[in-house]
Amino acid sequence: MIQLIRGFKDILPNEIELWKHIEQTAITLFESFGFRQIRVPILEKAALFQRSIGEHTDIVEKEMYTFPTEKGELITLRPEATASIVRAYLQQRMYAKDPIQKLYTLGPMFRKERPQKGRYRQFYQINAEVFGIESPYIDAQMIFMLTRFFRQLSITGLEVHLNSLGCPLCRPAFKKALSGMLMEKGDALCSECIRRRDTNPLRVLDCKRPGCQSVVENAPAITDYLCDDCARHFDRVKACLERMGIPYVVSPRLVRGLDYYTRTAFEIQTRELGAQNAVAGGGRYDTLVEALGGPSQPAVGFAVGLDRLVDLALTKTRASELTPDIFIAAMGEAAQEKAFEWSCELGREGIKTEIDFSDRSLKALMKRANRLGAGYVLMVGDQELDRGTAVLRNMRTREQTEIALSGVLGGVKSQLRAASDGRPHGDSQL
Ligand code: AMP
Repeated sequence: MIQLIRGFKDILPNEIELWKHIEQTAITLFESFGFRQIRVPILEKAALFQRSIGEHTDIVEKEMYTFPTEKGELITLRPEATASIVRAYLQQRMYAKDPIQKLYTLGPMFRKERPQKGRYRQFYQINAEVFGIESPYIDAQMIFMLTRFFRQLSITGLEVHLNSLGCPLCRPAFKKALSGMLMEKGDALCSECIRRRDTNPLRVLDCKRPGCQSVVENAPAITDYLCDDCARHFDRVKACLERMGIPYVVSPRLVRGLDYYTRTAFEIQTRELGAQNAVAGGGRYDTLVEALGGPSQPAVGFAVGLDRLVDLALTKTRASELTPDIFIAAMGEAAQEKAFEWSCELGREGIKTEIDFSDRSLKALMKRANRLGAGYVLMVGDQELDRGTAVLRNMRTREQTEIALSGVLGGVKSQLRAASDGRPHGDSQL
C-alpha cells in the first residue's frame, strides 16, 4: 500500500466539523472587522519568498519545497501567505484603487520542518493583513481581534508576547551591538549561529538550542535601541492593549522566523500544547511592499496555525460527526426507485439525507442508521407500497407515523421542522 508522505496528514470526516467551525468563526469575526477574503495560488516563483522572507532564514535556507519548471525557473510551494498577498496587492494594483486594504485568506502552507506533534510539513493557516495603515491602533486592533477569535473558540491559557523590532533607522545600531556581543561571548553558539552572527545576527535570538539560548540570555534588548518614532509607536500599541484589557508580556528576544518584520512583532502562545506552543504570530512589515517593487505602503498582519487550534479544541471536546437528519431504508426494486427520488428532493431542500441503495434487510439498514446517528428513518418496502404509505420513525422517541406516499416530502419536512423547533439551537461544538 502506498502511504502518506512523512509530515503530511489526512484530515478525516469526523474532524472536519471542528475545522469548519474554526474557519467559519474566523471568517465571520474577521469580516465584522472589515476584512475581505482573497485567495492566492499555492505555487509561486521561488524568488518571491527568497526576497521577502529573507535568504538567511530557516524557511528559505532549508524548508522550502522548490522545483524547477521545464524552462528551468524555480517555483515553490508557498511556506506562508503574506508574500503572495503582497504580490497580489501589487500585481493587481489594488493599492491604486485604495491603498488601504484589509485582506484575509486561509489555506495550506508547506515547510520541510522536522515533523513532530503540532508541526507538520503541510499545515493550515488563516492570515489577515492590513495595507496602508501605519497607526499603532491597527496593530492593537488586530491583536484584539485575535484574542476575540480564541475566546470565541473557548481556547484559554493564552499569552500575548510582544516586541518591537524597530525600523531601518534604528535597527542597525542594535544589530551591531548584538553581533559584537555574539563575537565576544559566543563560544557556546551552534555552528549555524556562528555563521549567522555575521549574516543575520537577529536569527541567533530565535535559535532553540540550549547553548545558543544561554548566550542569548545576556543579549542586549532591542527595545533599548528604538528610535523615538518606533518607541512612541510601541508605547501606543501597549497602551491600546491595556485599554482593551488584553494582558501581554514584552519579550525583547522575540524576532520571529521571517526577516520582513519592522516595529511590532507578536506571538500568541498557549501553555496547553507542549513544545509547539505558538498558535499565532505576526507583526508589522512596513518596508516589504516597497522591497517587492511597489509603492511605499506600511502593512501589518498575522497568521494563525489551524492544526494546533484543532489539537487544542480536540483536547476539550470529542470530534463530532455530521449526523444525517434522515436515513431512507428502502427494500426492493420499486421502493428504491421511490427512495431515489425522495433522496434527491430532500437533499435539494438542504435536509441531510443518507441512503445507500443496497439490497439489505431492514434490520441491517436500521443498524447502519443507528450507527450514523440519524434523527429519523423513512422505511418503505413492497408492503408499504401496496398500502400507499411509508413509515417515518423518530429514532430518539421511537415513535412511528405513517405518511401517504403522495405526501412523503411534505410529511418529512413538517416532522423535522417540529422536532428542531423543540430542540435548543446554537453552538454545541466546543
Ligand atoms: P509563522 O508563519 O511561522 O509566523 O507561523 C504562524 C503560525 O503558524 C504558528 O504560530 C503556528 O501556529 C503555525 N505553524 C507554523 N509552522 C507550522 C508547522 N510546521 N506545523 C503546524 N503549524 C505551524
